[in-house]
Amino acid sequence: MSGALLEVDGISVSFDGFKAINNLSFNIDSGELRAIIGPNGAGKTTFMDIITGKTRPDSGKVIWGEENVSLIKKSESDIANMGIGRKFQKPTVFEDQTTRDNLTMALKNKRKPWAVLFYHSNADDRAKVDDIADEIGLSDHLDRRAGDLSHGQKQWLEIGMLLAQEPRLLLVDEPAAGMTVDERNHTVTLLRRAAETRAVVVVEHDMEFIRNLDCKVTVLHEGSVLAEGSLDHVTQNQDVIDVYLGR
Ligand code: ADP
Repeated sequence: MSGALLEVDGISVSFDGFKAINNLSFNIDSGELRAIIGPNGAGKTTFMDIITGKTRPDSGKVIWGEENVSLIKKSESDIANMGIGRKFQKPTVFEDQTTRDNLTMALKNKRKPWAVLFYHSNADDRAKVDDIADEIGLSDHLDRRAGDLSHGQKQWLEIGMLLAQEPRLLLVDEPAAGMTVDERNHTVTLLRRAAETRAVVVVEHDMEFIRNLDCKVTVLHEGSVLAEGSLDHVTQNQDVIDVYLGR
């Protein structure tokens, strides 16, 4: 056992004979912030789908390190309950509920969000919601309808809803897309802070955003790891340059 929080060992998956993930190995440590980049079709989404149980690999191992259990045959909800949260690109908040209610729902029950309709939150929950709102920078927007928040604020709210479920690994897909410069900067701060207490993996195209995240970068290409290291290190790698220039 490597001691990693998540250990991906030699996974492959093909769609109609096309290898989308090709013998990919990859470790994430506890409390690590990691960026994954790569051109379109590199396998980034498929990789996240495998980790979260949406797609089953044809071969290889995915081990949740702390319990040393295989995730391969687990369902998506089992994996979420084990502490792997995933944020998709498009925010999916409950628009007609307030920011507070969205966070309370996430805190109370990750499987049955509607349960909050029958639930009165106690002081402890209210304090937790206040803490999360503070962490995501929405303390002044707790009583607003989520549908009235800006695109960036909705993204932060959804990250807050995931944090409420206390993941040990948070996967975030293209958080900077569609954001203003200020929103992007706040998102960097938020993700860096989130990674102080859990592992965070960010898939992102925006290189300026990744530079500001200031973390280890993994470059995927044709379903395998092409390079790994600091952003400066990987962007000086000739293989990476060739792939990005389409050579
Ligand atoms: P990325 O997220 O890096 O853009 P993807 O993981 O979405 O890459 O896709 C990797 C490759 O696998 C692409 O060539 C894509 O067309 C192919 N692929 C992904 N999902 C499917 C699927 N369900 N059926 C067929 N091909 C797929």
